[in-house]
Amino acid sequence: MREIQIGGLVSFTTIDYPGKLAAVLFLTGCPLRCAYCSNPNLLNVRDGEYDPDKVIEWLKTRVGKLEAVVFSGGEALMQGDVVIDYMRRVRDLGFAIGLHTNGFYPETLARAADVVDWIGLDYKATRDKYGELSGQNIAHDHMIRSLTTWQSTGKDFEVRITCDPRFVTKMDLMEIANDLHNRGVKNFAVQKYIPHFEGTTNTTTPDQRNQFFDDENLRNTINALFDSVTWRE
Ligand code: SF4
Repeated sequence: MREIQIGGLVSFTTIDYPGKLAAVLFLTGCPLRCAYCSNPNLLNVRDGEYDPDKVIEWLKTRVGKLEAVVFSGGEALMQGDVVIDYMRRVRDLGFAIGLHTNGFYPETLARAADVVDWIGLDYKATRDKYGELSGQNIAHDHMIRSLTTWQSTGKDFEVRITCDPRFVTKMDLMEIANDLHNRGVKNFAVQKYIPHFEGTTNTTTPDQRNQFFDDENLRNTINALFDSVTWRE
């Protein structure tokens, strides 16, 4: 079996796993092609730059200093069961396992559920705009299946949206928040879109990007739907 391909590593972060000091591993490969992707170098499954065994050896030196390891990407689950096996090795060192996922692989997520402690799940847009934003019309259906799969575990999670004004309106955000509320989601995060690679013909203005955060009524209405809402500006 091919071993896990790790394309990037952040050795210390306080913001990628709620309440825990963590390292993040960025795995190569993603089935989506989001217009706002900030990691285009990770989109194709390719040989990783980090030797997986050496990363394990390094993690052993972090025991007692870090509390969690987050698997991100790309889409970490695209590499399949080699990732789950590697997560198990990391968990055996005593770390909590976090996963940032776009939800495209609900069956793999189900198999990973016993080793993953927390997920951050992307809800990218309303269903009718998913294809335009991500390049995959079926990605919304997969993401919803991942959501229900994870909810059945009873473990913690967050659903997050990046508000790219090219694909998300305030009305869309409200519709998505209501959908998540109706599905029993407790923790929601609204993230500001940061343009990394916009071309000159397709730009957004700061006002367009700030509109979700500057609207107090919108914020209060969304805040009332969840136990916690994180506004990441
Ligand atoms: S899911 Fe994430 S890594 Fe994949 S294309 Fe979209 S933004 Fe990029």
